[in-house]
Amino acid sequence: MPRTKLTLTVDPEILAEAKAKAQSQHTSISGLVENFLHFYSEARLYCFSCGVALDVTERETCAKCGFLKCSDCAKCGCDLSDEARQAVFHMRRVYEELLAGRVG
Ligand SMILES: [Zn+2]
Ligand SMILES: [Zn+2]
Repeated sequence: MPRTKLTLTVDPEILAEAKAKAQSQHTSISGLVENFLHFYSEARLYCFSCGVALDVTERETCAKCGFLKCSDCAKCGCDLSDEARQAVFHMRRVYEELLAGRVG
């Protein structure tokens, strides 16, 4: 795949920590940034019930619970117990922090 050069300006402390961690995980900053950018532009969530990958840009959300409706099994947050729904909700916060925006 052809590569292009990207110049970034970031907090030096964050970069130093990321570099150290990337090295210990045998990956590179370029690889991480590329992976993130790919995820950012094509965020994916997986159905909590059947596990199929959902394209968040194309799926409809349930008006009642606000969750994505699965294209395969048609389940949404309404099919979950309160406890499970809360767990999924908090898990989604990880994505939202990562992407600095709403997912799905
Ligand atoms: Zn499903
Ligand atoms: Zn629902």
